[in-house]
Amino acid sequence: MSTAKATDRVLSTLNVDGSRRWLRPRLSEGSFWHKRRAVAYGLMFLFFIIPYLRMNGHPVILLDLPKREFHLFGATFLPTDTLLFMLLFVSIGIGIFLLTALFGRVWCGWGCPQTVYMEFLFRPLERLIEGGRTGTLALDRQTGLKPRRLLKYGVFLLLSLFLAHTFLAYFVGIERLVQWVRLSPVEHPTAFFVMAATTAAIMFDFTYFREQTCLVACPYGRLQSVLLDRKSLIVGYDYGRGEPRTKGAKHTEGAGDCIDCGACVQTCPTGIDIRDGLQMECIHCTQCADACDEIMDRVGRPRGLVRYTSRDELEGKPKRFLRPRVVLYPLALTIAVGAFLFFLTTKEDTDVTILRGIGAPYSFEPDGRVVNQVRIRVTNRADSPREYQIELAGADGAQVIAPENPLRVAPGELRTTSLFIVGPRSLFHDGKRAISVQLSDGNTYSASLPYTMVGPDDDDGDDDVEPKREGPREDDR
Ligand code: SF4
Ligand code: SF4
Repeated sequence: MSTAKATDRVLSTLNVDGSRRWLRPRLSEGSFWHKRRAVAYGLMFLFFIIPYLRMNGHPVILLDLPKREFHLFGATFLPTDTLLFMLLFVSIGIGIFLLTALFGRVWCGWGCPQTVYMEFLFRPLERLIEGGRTGTLALDRQTGLKPRRLLKYGVFLLLSLFLAHTFLAYFVGIERLVQWVRLSPVEHPTAFFVMAATTAAIMFDFTYFREQTCLVACPYGRLQSVLLDRKSLIVGYDYGRGEPRTKGAKHTEGAGDCIDCGACVQTCPTGIDIRDGLQMECIHCTQCADACDEIMDRVGRPRGLVRYTSRDELEGKPKRFLRPRVVLYPLALTIAVGAFLFFLTTKEDTDVTILRGIGAPYSFEPDGRVVNQVRIRVTNRADSPREYQIELAGADGAQVIAPENPLRVAPGELRTTSLFIVGPRSLFHDGKRAISVQLSDGNTYSASLPYTMVGPDDDDGDDDVEPKREGPREDDR
């Protein structure tokens, strides 16, 4: 079977024969690059320092997956905080929509860890060790070996180890991480495996996969066609000014400003030509704008042939900031963030749920009293242990029998306990009795939870439940 051969490159990182086209972009140290570098170093510093910072007695960011407890800027989130999680994720989602609608892929070019670490840590080191665009220093011509490449891999491995450890500190806390580092891997094999896998993933990404992460793995790039509109900020080539492009610096009549030098292509970390229009591969890193500005300076033409612009602006249409999505996204964001903050700030530091027990709805003591089994689920969100006294109200002659009363709950712990409410038969009318189960820690927390006891319906004289003794069981925490 014969297959059609491509006559031209179809993807920026694929050669015509289907092999990977390795990119070694030329560095363009223009004004955008200097600003991006300052932002990148700031973000790296934040990433390294955050695991050491604490707020309200907890790490500023700790996503403790084994304990299913999350600390974010002084607030603690537990698995029961479904509503808060939902509002948080919705807010983040709308925030991304808004950011992209206004500023295009500014996140990709300025803030994404893939870009930040690739372009401002790994790539500079690669250039330093192996040389610039061609990487000629890598090969030792006398021996045919590549000692500098080996050195590069060694340095990358150390960096990957460091990044993996820092990354994991966000999930286990810096104290536990330091402890693990000091111990033998045999004593914590799971943690060691996770660490090794994270290091390998980072090494693979920055050594081999590189721009492919943006081109084939990241969903955000693919979403941009629906998130951007014609007025969104993009890095774009001014066709009107640049075309028809003419090779050489000499400006001939009727020629555009583009001298077809290829500097914007050589500097592109995803290997595309910005002059082909807005492309999914463009991460809006502004390297082509810096490269072109330098060329324009050299040939004495105004800067900005490649610049931050919008598709409408490039087509000479009037700029219009206000459009439906620029109004609706902030509105939705305000509602979502407002609801999140409202529920966060008004949330009690104890959550209590009361549930009917499993099995028969009620039973009888030998003396004829009615027993209801009840389960109580208590979450202590405070930073100290609490003891919750469980009492009844509105149930004359009824008493609560619990295996542990007061119920002690550790900080961040969720405990479920079974208890029995025992009351006289006369308590019930129509087989029911509304009561309140009261919980109090004797200090800051007290709550009254409505509960409907069930019992015999003596009004119709029908009682087919056999008296049966069920003693209080161990709690099932
Ligand atoms: S086209 Fe320009 S902005 Fe887009 S990725 Fe390439 S260099 Fe960066
Ligand atoms: S760097 Fe500027 S002048 Fe050179 S090819 Fe690109 S757009 Fe044209």
